Amino acid sequence: MQIRDKFYIGGRWVASSSTTSLEVHNAGSGAVLGRVPAGSEEDIDAAVAAARAALESWGATSVQERSGYLQKISDGLKARGDELAKLIAQEVGMPLKLAGRIQAGLPIANFANYAKLVKEFAFEQRVGNSLVLREAVGVVGAITPWNYPLHQIALKVAPALAAGCTVVLKPSEIAPFNAFLLAEVIEAAGLPAGVFNLVTGPGPTVGEALVRHPGVDMITFTGSTRAGKRISEVAAQTVKRVALELGGKSASVILDDADLAAAVKSTVNGCYLNSGQTCTALTRMLVPAAKYAEAAAIAAEVAKGFTVGDPLAETTRLGPLTSAAQLERVRGYIRKGVEEGAELLAGGADSPEGVPAGGYYVKPTVFGKVKNSMSIAQEEIFGPVLAIIAYQDEDDAVRIANDSPYGLAGAVWSKDEARAQRVARRIRAGQIDINGGAFNMNAPFGGFKQSGHGREAGTYGLEEFLEYKALQLKT
Ligand code: NAD
Repeated sequence: MQIRDKFYIGGRWVASSSTTSLEVHNAGSGAVLGRVPAGSEEDIDAAVAAARAALESWGATSVQERSGYLQKISDGLKARGDELAKLIAQEVGMPLKLAGRIQAGLPIANFANYAKLVKEFAFEQRVGNSLVLREAVGVVGAITPWNYPLHQIALKVAPALAAGCTVVLKPSEIAPFNAFLLAEVIEAAGLPAGVFNLVTGPGPTVGEALVRHPGVDMITFTGSTRAGKRISEVAAQTVKRVALELGGKSASVILDDADLAAAVKSTVNGCYLNSGQTCTALTRMLVPAAKYAEAAAIAAEVAKGFTVGDPLAETTRLGPLTSAAQLERVRGYIRKGVEEGAELLAGGADSPEGVPAGGYYVKPTVFGKVKNSMSIAQEEIFGPVLAIIAYQDEDDAVRIANDSPYGLAGAVWSKDEARAQRVARRIRAGQIDINGGAFNMNAPFGGFKQSGHGREAGTYGLEEFLEYKALQLKT
């Protein structure tokens, strides 16, 4: 049992001013994994005061110094990598081996990456008689979700620190323990007091207190579109900079000349990663009408091959969902898909067999004959539920792909690479994989439309935390 009863504020572990705590559950069994403080507005005030006090001296450090701290944090996370993977596998439900590679591996890699990038970045540029400086935006409030909890934290904290900002982190209350582990690593790395601060608590109270706070210069948020809209409204009162990474309903467009089996298999895998709790999940598979039957049969076959089980078991390919609320929500969508007239090709709303009692397990599900107007094609389900949609021609495929309030990601498949790129250019989304092109941690990550604004990762992510300042020189 993990019991956390203190926050990391101003370089010290301090008791929360709130006496209540929040339960955190093990996704695989439903058992209580531990507790964290519920936090309060006073805790946010203390954390913001500590971050403000540290801002000037942290902003004045050299890039070499900041780089050194970032590398130490990466090394510290790496030394605790196995512990981290097991922890997040239990908090989130991702199978252990994958959790090691992704949930622990990506934060380690991102802190190391920013240790390198910050040394290469041009913080000053001469433009005519002006010297253009890039300066830290100030105190950053970071609010993060539970699905890739430490990755999403790292994509905010590492570039913010690299930029010279100080940070108050409010992680997801559903998977918060990894953030405490990060705070321990940061403490051990000797980061100056107040540069990084951690407070936990519910979004609508503790999260909003951070967004509202006049001492915070910027909010960087990853989470639902619903919360993102609210955060924009609240942040507008103090004219804060806001970066939003929100939901998605990404289309995998399989063109008629693609290797159908490979494209379908990869799309199903892309849809089911982290049990579908991935903002870039390829949840809509667009196939030529003439190839619909073949594609549907392959997808159902691939889905049935996913062994559902405990995230810590070796044989598991699909872990549980993260929470009881998430399980209810996903089952609700599966029922809705049936009611709306889609054809259930694999899975369903009932419980899978042979899984541990109490965990939040759902069957890997595939719907065929989906119309893009159905809720299962328009709304983000955040579960392992694939919707197959038939299209008539290339223009129709592009139209359907773009007929979504979201624009986060996508995929295009064709034997003709130039054709695939041409189609990808017509899709309004931030990241599009061509023929299964690999994830690139230096590529900009973020969305069009209601998937948010701003970009994370690589130098694009660093620039989010910088202001411009122009000095007009006499000579
Ligand atoms: P959520 O919006 O409920 O919560 C995210 C965070 O925001 C949590 O820390 C929560 O406490 C906080 N929060 C909630 N309401 C708030 C408010 N009014 N003010 C301030 N903070 C508030 O989302 P979730 O359920 O944790 O995560 C799932 C969602 O995140 C999905 O919609 C998913 O698509 C999205 N997501 C997006 C990306 C991306 O990069 N685009 C990545 C991962 C997840």
